[in-house]
Amino acid sequence: MAAWSDNIRKVEPYVPGEQPRDTDVIKLNTNENPYGPSQRVKNVMMDIDTLRLYPDPTASALVDVLAEYHGVDSSQVFVGVGSDDVLAMSFLTFFNSDKPILFPDITYSFYDVWAELFSIPYERPALDENFRLVKENYYRENGGIVFPNPNAPTGIYEDIKNVEDIVSHNKDSIVIVDEAYIDFGGESALGLIDKYDNLVVVRTFSKSRSMAGLRIGYAISNPVLIKALNDVKYSYNSYTMNRPSLIMGTESVKDDEYFKETVSKVVATRERFVEAIKPLDFTCLPSSANFVFATHKDIPAKEIFQAAKDAHIYVRYFDKPRIDNYLRISIGTDEEMDKFTEFLTNYIQER
Ligand code: PMP
Repeated sequence: MAAWSDNIRKVEPYVPGEQPRDTDVIKLNTNENPYGPSQRVKNVMMDIDTLRLYPDPTASALVDVLAEYHGVDSSQVFVGVGSDDVLAMSFLTFFNSDKPILFPDITYSFYDVWAELFSIPYERPALDENFRLVKENYYRENGGIVFPNPNAPTGIYEDIKNVEDIVSHNKDSIVIVDEAYIDFGGESALGLIDKYDNLVVVRTFSKSRSMAGLRIGYAISNPVLIKALNDVKYSYNSYTMNRPSLIMGTESVKDDEYFKETVSKVVATRERFVEAIKPLDFTCLPSSANFVFATHKDIPAKEIFQAAKDAHIYVRYFDKPRIDNYLRISIGTDEEMDKFTEFLTNYIQER
């Protein structure tokens, strides 16, 4: 191998869920929303010729509409190319010490990848036997904290009082609460932003706003931390968000009625689905997200995952300690969930 190979950064990349090219499948593997964006987004008439122009580097229209929506100042909002981008920028910006950052042992697996990529030391306190966060494990010197609430892939929501305890016991480090799924259940940490100067809340348009394809995410915090994020972002890439995303994202925020309606449809389907698979001997962890984490009494999760895939139904399987007998099943339409339930019923009967 030529000497240049030593100069190449070696990384163990994040492995995203499969995006099959075949559209004739039931896709319950990457927590997308089945209902599509608001009609306001569909009505956008974009002058394609304007694509010759760079987008607004400050994304001010989207920032302003999000600030208004959440009742904060525009200086408290940072937007990025999906919450993955916002989180990666947050790791780069806020986790810049020799002390380890902390996140749960079972959580969004991109956190390990960014920590490795950016050479940030990290430790992963174990969740308890019910997959709950043990808040006391975070009351110690550290270089920062990040966790999703609700957690992924478990879907478990951590009471806002516990979130506040973690934030208030860590005044010298920054706490990032990744709220990718909060619209499907639980109380947001946004209400704590004015009270604590070490809190960053991250959100996405990919799940509750049904716009994963546009890649829009944002962070809300105090102006000091948002400026720090922008300083890092502009040092990295001057124009991150594209014009169509900025225009359509802004329209989406303006349609709260549709947003609430589709979120409550997903939640109702989730509750129905959990009940529907109970008689098939599945148990689901209590979910506050747009997916459930389910395990079967007898049949290995990996086997069901493969059989479902063979039947063109995609769910998610993680070959990892403690969760390798669970399937993460995104909530689709009622019809899709009925078809999946029917598949499971037949599979178990014929096995
Ligand atoms: N955080 C969590 C916990 C997630 O599960 C996901 C989805 N993969 C993300 C962040 C990233 O979502 P996006 O980049 O689409 O906003």
